[in-house]
Amino acid sequence: PFEVLIVGGGPAGAAAAIYAARKGIRTGVAAERFGGQVLDTMDIENFISVSRTEGPKLASALEAHVKDYDVEIMNLQKATKLIPARTEGGYHEVVLENGASLKGRTLILSTGARWRQMGVPGEDEYRNKGVAYCPHCDGPLFKGRRVAVIGGGNSGVEAAIDLAGIVAHVTLIEFDSQLRADAVLQRKLASLPNVKIITSALTSKVDGNGDRVTGLSYKDRNSGEEHDIELEGIFVQIGLVPNTEWLKDTVALSPRGEIEIDARGETSVPGIFAAGDCTTVPYKQIVIAMGAGSTAGLSAFDYLIRLPAS
Ligand code: FAD
Repeated sequence: PFEVLIVGGGPAGAAAAIYAARKGIRTGVAAERFGGQVLDTMDIENFISVSRTEGPKLASALEAHVKDYDVEIMNLQKATKLIPARTEGGYHEVVLENGASLKGRTLILSTGARWRQMGVPGEDEYRNKGVAYCPHCDGPLFKGRRVAVIGGGNSGVEAAIDLAGIVAHVTLIEFDSQLRADAVLQRKLASLPNVKIITSALTSKVDGNGDRVTGLSYKDRNSGEEHDIELEGIFVQIGLVPNTEWLKDTVALSPRGEIEIDARGETSVPGIFAAGDCTTVPYKQIVIAMGAGSTAGLSAFDYLIRLPAS
């Protein structure tokens, strides 16, 4: 059994592992895919103090840094069930997909999130080649270009406002007959000269030239007609889904399925902490996940030293 068992090996889990291991306590990381979302990223320009890096490079640096310490990495292990300790200070159990189970006196949940995809032809093919999910990350790469934002909820409208200040033109595409974002955001959006809003539109295809995105097609849901738009970038903003399905009825989750944490990263269950994109933390970014993972690692240690000696 581990003193600190971390579930998830992205930036949050890696930071938690390093902080815990540096306290000399038995630390393990179980991850479905060590590296996490970073593996799906190409250019990273907001990893502070590093002007530019690439996802796969950062992911191997994460793993190398964790391996500097005595941390047991269990890669390709998917957690399917959490059984919290029955008594305070007892072991929490994490059941894996292969039937085995791991135990930790404290747990740090850092299973991240995934962007909801449109599921249309061309979306996967042009991911990182014009199809993007994170305006904070990739917005500046489209300076002076034309982009679309898919989704008229708060995140879509925020993204469109943000991008309008950077890119040449933004087309916001909403499936419903009206935007769902807060009125104040909608007013701000409507005031911008380089934004066009199209409602009742179903995006049907991402077009490209083999190398990069060149446009998109959508169907007007009222007339049934297909339309094409020429552009260089598409930001998909139809939801970020936390990887917390396996935690139902254990730790408290928000209505969106995010793990609720306090300022120390503690969940509703004593001894279980969480960090990164799977939590209620505002803004989902690498440096933020790393900070939160470090907080959770230190909080787990604090919890352990306060347990009565056994
Ligand atoms: P994740 O990176 O999602 O890691 C989650 C970990 O948990 C993974 O190891 C995963 O395999 C594992 N896991 C999930 N479910 C289970 C389970 N049931 N059992 C076991 N393990 C599980 N951020 C930036 O700051 N700058 C950028 O430029 C940037 N670009 C991005 C580009 C793309 C295309 C994407 C998708 C994201 C980008 N982000 C960027 C966001 C950034 O990658 C995330 O904020 C960050 O990776 C979150 O870290 P995390 O550790 O919380 O979660």
